[in-house]
Amino acid sequence: MKPFIGITMDRADGEKQIIPDAYVHAILQAGGTPLLIPTGVEKDIKRIVEALDGLLLSGGDDVAPYLFDEEPHPELGKVTPERDVTEVALARQFLNANKPILGICRGMQLLNIVCGGSVYQDITAQYDGPLLQHRQKAAKSFASHVVTLAPKSLLHQIVGRDAIRVNSFHHQAVREVPSPFVVTGQTSDGIIEALESVNHYFVLGVQWHPEELSIAGDTASQQLFTTFIKKCENL
Ligand code: MN
Repeated sequence: MKPFIGITMDRADGEKQIIPDAYVHAILQAGGTPLLIPTGVEKDIKRIVEALDGLLLSGGDDVAPYLFDEEPHPELGKVTPERDVTEVALARQFLNANKPILGICRGMQLLNIVCGGSVYQDITAQYDGPLLQHRQKAAKSFASHVVTLAPKSLLHQIVGRDAIRVNSFHHQAVREVPSPFVVTGQTSDGIIEALESVNHYFVLGVQWHPEELSIAGDTASQQLFTTFIKKCENL
């Protein structure tokens, strides 16, 4: 049976709950059935997690820094506190249930924060060293920078390559990486672009947007989605 994949939604403007179509279509293309999870469902998380086979934590605005014990930096972007509450509860419950999670962009950062890690609130202001352009000005489906993958990592096994070229739309990045995560992908400037759990069945985060690349025909991104769906099927 096709697995049910929950995709978290954005409530950025406070009036509408939205999700870019690419997430839905990348899941459909990979053989899953996408179900959208709105902000505000945290009281029903347990039953929602029982009903789903996998979770896609989607991209979006910045995570409020109180969640990693920091005050807001002047360059912190827009935050969506209600969304944080819903997604933190969902991620915790999914991790406890040991069900598959794919975290994308903000979703990877959120996973890291839920497990006790932190992010650079703004890499340009806070990262020590020269940076690549991580907020690309090219189209969403253009793969602008290279990510080198850790040998023997799950991600390396999925794509079967030492490095992949990906898109990039972020001004924040994962900073301290707590257990159970290990870094499995980095750009040449040292920015962390992929994480995976060594203690869970399938918990993987990427800093780029594979959904946009996948629907545009990128093989590595399609392999990431099909592996995620397969793991959800075989649960
Ligand atoms: Mn990047």
